[in-house]
Amino acid sequence: MILAVASGKGGTGKTSVVAALAAVWPAAAVLADVDVEAPNLHLFVHPVPESSEEVGVETPVVRAERCTACGACADLCQFGAIALLGGRAQVFSEMCHSCGGCFRVCPADALARGSRVVGEITTGRAGRHTVVTGRLRLGEAMAPPLMREVLARAIALAADRDLLVDAPPGVSCPAMTAVEQADAILLVTEPTPFGLHDFQLAHQAFAPLGKPMAVVINRDGLGDAPVGAYCRTHHLPVLARIPYSSELAGIYARGGSLAEDPVVRAAMEALIGALRA
Ligand code: SF4
Ligand code: SF4
Repeated sequence: MILAVASGKGGTGKTSVVAALAAVWPAAAVLADVDVEAPNLHLFVHPVPESSEEVGVETPVVRAERCTACGACADLCQFGAIALLGGRAQVFSEMCHSCGGCFRVCPADALARGSRVVGEITTGRAGRHTVVTGRLRLGEAMAPPLMREVLARAIALAADRDLLVDAPPGVSCPAMTAVEQADAILLVTEPTPFGLHDFQLAHQAFAPLGKPMAVVINRDGLGDAPVGAYCRTHHLPVLARIPYSSELAGIYARGGSLAEDPVVRAAMEALIGALRA
């Protein structure tokens, strides 16, 4: 099973839910942190790194001797990544989105295929689990290609094991990329007005994928937004509630697993039972 743990907004405790689930998961699994702009699953599961690899995307390189300065590539590139300067095309590779369009329109075969490193993937072990983490380079905007690569590696490593995906927050392209290959989606939210608002957006964004969805309410008791009522109206099962308490905040702050707490542990075990039913 591929389970994507997602949330409508950051700071809902999505990553600590993944870590708590991992602590009680009944078999060895693969954990993938695809929140590549701010990966932090490693802070809660403490993997020992085993290997690390840079990931690149394809970008054009101008063969100056062939370029006729026709401008077709610059006209096509909607990202402004190619311009005519000094009588030939010049590439600003950090703006390139690797769409491949300029290669197709160049009439002079003046573009070679180069690459730009966008980030790195680290694989490590945390107890019985394998942990795959993607980290985007500072200032790099191309998160989806790195996320897809993290997911592809994690799926290959999982083979006959379960895969828990720590998705990025929000509902934009990176979050959709993270959940579209999942068998089921677990939405983590909190009962505050902001939590409910962003949770509704996430539910509406992911619903067209037609995948089973369930909910974990984190910091239950923190606010009085009617998250439970929304779930009942939309037939979303609430599989666990994690209480709002200073003890749990303390465990979180020191990078521990919320499953150290017997109430959370029981809630996570019940959640896994419901997922497998
Ligand atoms: S690959 Fe696409 S984004 Fe990159 S320079 Fe060419 S046209 Fe622009
Ligand atoms: S399309 Fe090819 S020949 Fe024309 S400006 Fe671009 S690189 Fe040069």
